[in-house]
Amino acid sequence: MTYDVIIIGGGPGGLSAAIYCSRGGLNTLIIESAGTGGQVNYTYDIDNYPGFIGNGRDLAEKMYEQVKGLGIKIVHEKVLKLKNPNSPIKTAVTRKNEYSAPAVIISTGSKPRPLGIDGEERLRGAGVSYCATCDGAFFEGKTAAVVGGGNTAFEDALYLSKLCKKVYLIHRRDSFRANAHLVSLARKNPSIELILNTNITSILGKNIVEAVMLSSRFNEKKQILETDAVFVAAGRIPQTDLAENMLALTDDGYIITDENMRASIDGIYAVGDVRDTPLRQIVTAAADGAIAASDIIRTQN
Ligand code: NAP
Repeated sequence: MTYDVIIIGGGPGGLSAAIYCSRGGLNTLIIESAGTGGQVNYTYDIDNYPGFIGNGRDLAEKMYEQVKGLGIKIVHEKVLKLKNPNSPIKTAVTRKNEYSAPAVIISTGSKPRPLGIDGEERLRGAGVSYCATCDGAFFEGKTAAVVGGGNTAFEDALYLSKLCKKVYLIHRRDSFRANAHLVSLARKNPSIELILNTNITSILGKNIVEAVMLSSRFNEKKQILETDAVFVAAGRIPQTDLAENMLALTDDGYIITDENMRASIDGIYAVGDVRDTPLRQIVTAAADGAIAASDIIRTQN
């Protein structure tokens, strides 16, 4: 099937691009391997997207409804590769189908970065989690540790504090990437204890998480901290499998674009968390999508 534009990934960047493309008269296809909404689905409270205060799932649902309301086609398949990226018509290949278009927007987002420590992989799903809103309820009334000092770690700790009797936020430094508002809420929360300048060196437990081994940033001192769960919030890795060996990437793997979201090959765009950008939020992903779509509409008209 041939379209005017193919959007790979149905997070806020992809959905926003789809809305603009469709309203610009382009025959638009979204290919999304899971449900639409991306990371937004896993955000409990959204309070920095203008005009919306509430649960991430509700915002994702509203975005989806808006896209469906415009009659935009969504297929739930995984794109395995982009064929003929340098030709005027590019082809997205899935297991069963091939979809072609002169413009492709990559909005594949990012995935959690593991800590890479002992016990993490072995106890994954047995107390080790990368998604507090997905798995937090399993630890109601129990103790949880969150690792990281960014917005995700603080949002996770605040969310878990509503369920767990105690939440430790363990961070390797004593300053944070998280915004001051979230840090202040966590500091005021009696269920949250910040453990700073501290690394987790291993996750302990026979069949389920029982404790973590902590080590001080400043000396050799080690300490065992009992916990029922470890929520890893140590940043994210861009999902650029499709772009590798094809598009220009930064050293840490993000797709480099110009101000119109054009990647290094004509007709290929990147928007949202997967691209090199100073800010990764819903509002910036949505803006990226709108900019990419507008450029494609200009190019094709
Ligand atoms: P992030 O901002 O990159 O923070 C990751 C945190 O994990 C950092 O504090 C980092 O420590 C720590 N870390 C990284 N590797 C580690 C390791 N091996 N061991 C221990 N700690 C480690 O990631 P994020 O919080 O997932 O956020 C990702 C992006 O999404 C950001 O741009 C963020 O602003 C955005 N976001 C926004 C919101 C919101 O606006 N409400 C919510 C969630 C996410 P260092 O600081 O020492 O490097």
